[in-house]
Amino acid sequence: MTTTMTVDAARVELLLSELRLPSMKAIWPKLAAQSDKEGWPAAKFLAALAEHETADRGRRRFERHLLEARLPAGKTLAAFDFEATPMLSKAQIMALASGDVWLKTGANVLLFGPPGGGKSHLSAALGLALVENGWRVLFTRTTDLVQRLQVARRELALESAIAKLDRYDLLILDDIAYVSKDQAETSVLFELIAARYERRSMLITANQPFGEWGKIFPDQAMTLAAIDRLVHHATILEMNVESYRRRAALDRKRGPGRPPAHATQKELEKAAD
Ligand code: ADP
Ligand code: MG
Repeated sequence: MTTTMTVDAARVELLLSELRLPSMKAIWPKLAAQSDKEGWPAAKFLAALAEHETADRGRRRFERHLLEARLPAGKTLAAFDFEATPMLSKAQIMALASGDVWLKTGANVLLFGPPGGGKSHLSAALGLALVENGWRVLFTRTTDLVQRLQVARRELALESAIAKLDRYDLLILDDIAYVSKDQAETSVLFELIAARYERRSMLITANQPFGEWGKIFPDQAMTLAAIDRLVHHATILEMNVESYRRRAALDRKRGPGRPPAHATQKELEKAAD
């Protein structure tokens, strides 16, 4: 077969660069050769090219969102032992992991429980699932974020710092009760909560439900106002379980013959060393 029209390959590459289609640019020579050889209709060739670009774009977006989410490594829903937290409904957690209802309406999740109960793990795992489902998430220790916002306030840029956080569908604030008294005094956390109210979601973890929140905000009125906004549209999950770490250690101590109830495979291997 002879080509009646000679196409300048260098020109094609230039155009694809200009159009910012890097994946099409990389794959087109191979696909064009295959298309010529197998006599594809033009539409098939074009669709194959476009599909390539779309898939790569999705992958790149996911990688970007995963990086910006700053999730702690290795905390997944698959690795979360739901048997250890019988008060949690796995179905409810899986529904939250899709993000569809609550993130669209700016609703919140509050996760309470004693240290070691799996709050950080579960919130990070939810964060990861949500990123996988296309949502944008930021995981942060509450004190770290408060510190950043305090710096912004000193530079008279608090409003824009809070506005920048709007790009995240979900802010995960881990350990809100660890905010210190002097951090509370600047009230940046209250301003963040007020700004996101009914627009953008937050997932907040705390060792204690509300009782101890008096020290997170400058005064009682603000504490109540903050709690009011947070709980107005919120799913509250209580994980009143014994420390997972401590229980895993106890299970190991029971010795052979009685299989540990909750130790993970990794912990078993460690114990066997
Ligand atoms: P918290 O944030 O409530 O203090 P963490 O999420 O840090 O607790 O949990 C402590 C450790 O135990 C972590 O290594 C976590 O991965 C593990 N862990 C806690 N709960 C579970 C669970 N239900 N299934 C699997 N691992 C868990
Ligand atoms: Mg934690």
